Amino acid sequence: MHSKHVTAVSAPLHACGHTGPGGNAAVLSEAVLDALPSPTVLLDPDGRVLLTNAAWAAAVETVDDDRMDGGVGVDYFAMARRACGKAVGRRIVDSLRALSRGERAGVAMDYSLEHPAGTHWYHLQASRLNQAGHVVVTHTDVTDRVQAERTSAWRARHDDLTELPNRAGLHELIDAALQRPERLPITVLFLDVDGFKDVNDSLGHEAGDDLLRQLAARLAGRTRSEDTVGRLGGDEFVVLCHDCDTAGAEALAQRFQSIFDEPFHLGGRTARLTASIGVATAWSGDPSGTRSTDLLRDADLAMYAAKRAGRSRMRVFSPELRDAVQQKVLVAGELREAIETGQLVLHYQPIVHLPSGQVDGVEALVRWQHPERGLLPPGEFIAVAEEYELIGLLTRWVLGAATRQAAEWAELGLPLLVGVNVSASTVATGMLVDDVAGALAASGLPPDRLIIELTETTVAEDPERAAAQFAVLRTSGVEVAIDDFGSGFSSLGQLVNIPAGVLKIDRSLVSGAVNGRSQAAAAIAAVVALAEACGMRALAEGVETAEQLALTATLGCTFAQGYYIARPMPADELRSWLRERAATGNRDSDRRASLAVRLSSTGH
Ligand code: C2E
Ligand code: MG
Ligand code: MG
Repeated sequence: MHSKHVTAVSAPLHACGHTGPGGNAAVLSEAVLDALPSPTVLLDPDGRVLLTNAAWAAAVETVDDDRMDGGVGVDYFAMARRACGKAVGRRIVDSLRALSRGERAGVAMDYSLEHPAGTHWYHLQASRLNQAGHVVVTHTDVTDRVQAERTSAWRARHDDLTELPNRAGLHELIDAALQRPERLPITVLFLDVDGFKDVNDSLGHEAGDDLLRQLAARLAGRTRSEDTVGRLGGDEFVVLCHDCDTAGAEALAQRFQSIFDEPFHLGGRTARLTASIGVATAWSGDPSGTRSTDLLRDADLAMYAAKRAGRSRMRVFSPELRDAVQQKVLVAGELREAIETGQLVLHYQPIVHLPSGQVDGVEALVRWQHPERGLLPPGEFIAVAEEYELIGLLTRWVLGAATRQAAEWAELGLPLLVGVNVSASTVATGMLVDDVAGALAASGLPPDRLIIELTETTVAEDPERAAAQFAVLRTSGVEVAIDDFGSGFSSLGQLVNIPAGVLKIDRSLVSGAVNGRSQAAAAIAAVVALAEACGMRALAEGVETAEQLALTATLGCTFAQGYYIARPMPADELRSWLRERAATGNRDSDRRASLAVRLSSTGH
């Protein structure tokens, strides 16, 4: 099928009806044609090849089979149908005939050809040369461009690290599944690794990447061939399950959770991990139905609920879940306004110094004076503030109000210490030191009148960061307390290295330590000894009875706080409470407690 291309012949293409070389008004010579880099042919209106150029001859050589016979005189239209297949061939032929008849201005289209070495893509461009309907057709090999486009299209839909479909790819696949005409349950599993940040932080980003690749492989290994695993980004993976209802997805989720049974080996270290999984299902075949964004959002919400319930959990999406989130969004919006418009108030709970029986400090506890819902305790809004990034604003407000109040009391001859609670996220953002300094400067309160309280679990979350910030605070004179100690499981090593001055023993330990519950009492005694060994003074929280007060004093606690002494109260009430207490002397129980201290310290 080798082509012969005409040499040294001028083509008289103006001559109407002339179909061969040798006419008188040559406008296009073979030399001109040869100068064109793309394979080019000249056709008469019936598709007969009149002229070809050198590039065409070379191109025909490379497609070494019977489909191509590109020499002068052959039927280009028949060849196009043979080489490109019926449909594409017909499109080429119809377009070129229309062009030849002057019914269209030009032809430009892409088509592919199978070569022995693989598929090649061509861009066909044709123009009409004269009234006789001769057309010149160039064929530019655009394989590189098409492949580059295909690669970049693939890249746009896949994740570099794991080669799994990425967010864009997943959205397309989920939408395609939902748009299938038949009615089938389509389920999405949203999987998020618990504590992935810790791997990244402690073992480095390379180990983190390695973990994600291993995880991708494990997930893909557990996925049915008709389903798809993708990576949304970070440590978030999605599995798209076709024809799978919620019950099936729950079983699947368990299977995915079990891939974490085996530890991950990361450059000589092993990491044991878990994942939280959210599941959401929608039905295909409903044109106005759920879209991928809805389904992914629902699965994300369910995952988030699973995570909040504790690690290694699975939750199925329900509309109530969405309502709860909407409620939180509402509360967050109101809370921002509440902080800005002064709806927050502080109540102060007295703290007794047991050896002297004196109230020498208070803990500031925030409340929200809600216009409709009344006075709300912090349990109703602190978590929302943390989740919706309002905690910085809230902490600054509390610090400002509490230090102003303490400075005011000092001016009135009431030199009380004031404790302020700060959340984990305040420590994580690194703003704590600046915020404290700002509040002290604005209020004029001496730093040694302020105590910053951080819960044991917050300290345990990032002990190094907490220790660094505590150290700066203590250098400036501000005291630091570890709150709710005994409610979490921080290690002794962490505690020893935390520069704090006060250890607040959690209410759960204190309430357990009465009526001969000797184990709980022993636990308090141990915590007190631990605090002393670390240079801290112990404070018993949640003291509700005279017995608890006496016992905590006997066990060596330096301070006590609880409903038995007083409930948290507004600042003006506190003044009258203090006045009354001073007038009546310490309550009997306080006296008993201080007596107990005196007795224990004298060895009785
Ligand atoms: P916390 O810092 O451990 O505060 C002690 C909590 O125990 C307070 O609850 C207090 O009213 C309550 N309490 C005190 N004595 C007793 C008692 O004898 N029995 C019982 N059952 N409870 C007692 P509240 O005010 O509801 O605060 C709860 C938690 O909210 C606080 O625990 C603290 O972690 C957090 N919180 C309070 N105010 C703030 C704040 O301004 N910022 C931040 N970030 N958290 C705050
Ligand atoms: Mg506290
Ligand atoms: Mg506490």
